Amino acid sequence: MLISGKEIMQHAYENGYAIPAFNFANMENLQAIIQGAEEMNSPVIIQTSQGAIDYAGAEYLADIGLGAAHRANIPVVLHLDHGQKYEYCLKAIRLGWTSVMIDASQDTFSENVSKVKEIVKVARPLDIYVEAEIGIIGGKEDDLVSDKEIYTEVKDAVNFQRETMCDSLAIAVGTAHGVYKGEVKIDFTRIKEIRALLPVPLVLHGSSGVPLDMVTKAVHSGITKVNFDTELKLANLDALQRFLKENPGVYDIRKMFKPCRLAMKEVVKAKIAACMSTDKSWIIS
Ligand SMILES: [Zn+2]
Repeated sequence: MLISGKEIMQHAYENGYAIPAFNFANMENLQAIIQGAEEMNSPVIIQTSQGAIDYAGAEYLADIGLGAAHRANIPVVLHLDHGQKYEYCLKAIRLGWTSVMIDASQDTFSENVSKVKEIVKVARPLDIYVEAEIGIIGGKEDDLVSDKEIYTEVKDAVNFQRETMCDSLAIAVGTAHGVYKGEVKIDFTRIKEIRALLPVPLVLHGSSGVPLDMVTKAVHSGITKVNFDTELKLANLDALQRFLKENPGVYDIRKMFKPCRLAMKEVVKAKIAACMSTDKSWIIS
């Protein structure tokens, strides 16, 4: 079933586990996420970036995303990931997304605050959950590129949430978007410090490539939502390359994408286990 972000995020926040969030851009991608979450009996956030919307069209993604959510036997949130433009956020809300991220983290503190406040003002009466970001997460996601990485300051996180009244907050604590270069280092102490002072759930972005035990440690430290994207793409690519190599001449896209969907589903299940959201779908009945 489709639900607002509030219900599952609050339950996870209070009970020490995290809601896994996976990006989708096509049907196989989406089916892998929903099937994986159903097999794990876990609530799940399916999310689309602005890039996915540009690729597939917002209306089309709404059709398949909402259709999948309504048919699923687990709680599903449809979320806009890294909405950088007001227009994308509003369009998503109008088309049925139940949660949006307004990401103005590359702007100054005060510009970020005012952009988030604008979305919160529209979203709150409509029961749409709002995620914001403070600090700069390194790496590349869609056309969002950061050469630098600026860890979130504890006092900034507290002031920012107090001023914007956002529902959840993405923080920069060492993870990176895209494919990791070098060793993963996460500032778990910073997560704990922010969590201790902040009254809303914290979100970890760029979690592909983070070893599963570190994901779990981040959740134990106070993370309530974990975003995964790149690893699903890599699983898809790997399965597709293997299939094409082993089956030259096959042109049936169903045969081609079946192993891809299966490979993505296995990644989804492993991430769900690391988030400790297995068997938590009962919270909404
Ligand atoms: Zn992100």
